[in-house]
Amino acid sequence: MVDTVNDTSKQIKEQAESRKTTGLEALAFGKAAPQVSDKRMINAEADLNQILPIKYDWAWGAYLNGNANSWDPNEINMAFDRTLYQSPHGLTPDERMIVERNLGFFSTADSLVANNLVLAVYRHITNPECRQYLLRQAYEEALHTHAYLHVVQSLGMDESRIFNMYREIPSVATKAAWALTYTESLSDPTFSTGTPENDQRLLRDLIAFYVVFEGIFFYVGFTQILSMGRRNKMVGTAEQFQYIMRDESLHLNFGIDVINQIHIENPHLWTPTFEAEIIEMIKTGVDLEYQYAIDTMPRGILGMNAGMFKEYLQFIANRRFRQIGLPEQFPGATNPFPWMSEIMDLKKEKNFFETRVTEYQVGGALSWDE
Ligand code: FE
Repeated sequence: MVDTVNDTSKQIKEQAESRKTTGLEALAFGKAAPQVSDKRMINAEADLNQILPIKYDWAWGAYLNGNANSWDPNEINMAFDRTLYQSPHGLTPDERMIVERNLGFFSTADSLVANNLVLAVYRHITNPECRQYLLRQAYEEALHTHAYLHVVQSLGMDESRIFNMYREIPSVATKAAWALTYTESLSDPTFSTGTPENDQRLLRDLIAFYVVFEGIFFYVGFTQILSMGRRNKMVGTAEQFQYIMRDESLHLNFGIDVINQIHIENPHLWTPTFEAEIIEMIKTGVDLEYQYAIDTMPRGILGMNAGMFKEYLQFIANRRFRQIGLPEQFPGATNPFPWMSEIMDLKKEKNFFETRVTEYQVGGALSWDE
């Protein structure tokens, strides 16, 4: 009986393998050029080395937008931040904790995302224009790791303490450990798409990384650091985060398009059971990020407190649910940090913090001061 089951699963796996295209198969000399109709997000048979004709304009557009956002962490002046961080009374202990814990989380988080992209996700996405963007995204993740490294060194922080924080501080470790469970199947060399069960795993893991990790787990830290920048503290660090957040919003939007396109092409995967599983997964993500808000900010500072983050995370999660066609789970949640969307929709580029006084202090109505 056991042997029969093993034989059957082996056959399914072999069939899936035989269908699967990686772009590295033996050259099919004399075979006709691929057509748009041959192209699919997953389980495609079309040649993966020919990007034209493009089927998914949004993927090519994401690649061009990513290139247009190019920036360099070294060009941001970190001298004021260093002085402030090194000065014994420059930052309060609570502010210092926000800076250190966030660098602890982010310095390894983007590396984790990069490893998930190149070692797990990439080979299962069978579309050249999407892979083109994935390569751009992978570079941006490397750039973000570079930016965090640059901040840690510029400030003169204890490097190994910051980078090892995800193995020492529970609130930092929990989010990374949660994400790792959603890369296990895809990074397994014997894993292959092509069965409904495995295709659902791919979809679930994409949602975990794009929607929860990059779409929820980054937002407490982004808000905390950018809030410091708005108050003229750690402005160089805040500017680094501002550029990173702009890249991340593209990663998120691309991921959502990928998820929705796989859904459109494979409607049988999106069962009520699957929907329920995804809703629970995203809600768990909200809980973990709320815990992170409490742990990084035990007392309210900088016009923020944990309660506001709960509301903010629910507001963001509602948007994420809508973006992937699921019902909102937190009715009536509003955004306590409206200035975050202004930073996100940034058109002013580097002027944000310089123009803060004239443009954003008008927001006295937002009552940031405690
Ligand atoms: Fe990212």
